[in-house]
Amino acid sequence: MSLKSFILNILFPLECLGCGEEGFYLCEKCFRNLKLNDKKYILKTPYLDEIFIAGDYDDKVLADLIKKLKFNFVDNIAPILGRFLSLFWSGIIFSRPELKNKEIILIPLPLSRKRENWRGFNQAELIAHNFNTDYNYKINSDLKKIKNTKAQSSLNEDERAENIKDCFSWSGENLKDKIIIIIDDVITTGATLNEAACVLKKNGASKIYGLVVAKG
Ligand SMILES: [Zn+2]
Repeated sequence: MSLKSFILNILFPLECLGCGEEGFYLCEKCFRNLKLNDKKYILKTPYLDEIFIAGDYDDKVLADLIKKLKFNFVDNIAPILGRFLSLFWSGIIFSRPELKNKEIILIPLPLSRKRENWRGFNQAELIAHNFNTDYNYKINSDLKKIKNTKAQSSLNEDERAENIKDCFSWSGENLKDKIIIIIDDVITTGATLNEAACVLKKNGASKIYGLVVAKG
């Protein structure tokens, strides 16, 4: 346990975000009560072949977990969300044999350096690493966010497009014939994910999927 986690535990004793039981961020019973998504969303994301969204922000416990990770900097939440995403993904590949046993590259959606320094970590990266303990895909961090953007939620549709335009750059190898999964924690309109996918397509990726913990 890091010193920061130790101090936080004294200030805010650990209790399950679902039922209040002491000693966990989320107890096993409440983990099993997290609802795996079966909704279909219509998003304008032409550069993505498909987006898979594991849960919904309407699920208060899931929303609280994400907020605690991102805004209370509780990085110990990442394994819970990674496990949730992994459970969801096992259902997807069960019904989609074309995604099974494929050489897949995971790319966590990057934060700008400024934002990552502020938080101390990139939540998408932590979730991707925890998710991947069950899959062993390659994880690649060559997608960079090179522009500081405003929170998309504060902007209208035109401003959103302008805000994220050219905010990503790819510094890795050519992605010809590669299958990519971009991982993120929350998706709203999908515009940011789409912008990232656009850059990866321009660098040769053949299939690009989004895999996201929750629809905001
Ligand atoms: Zn509980």
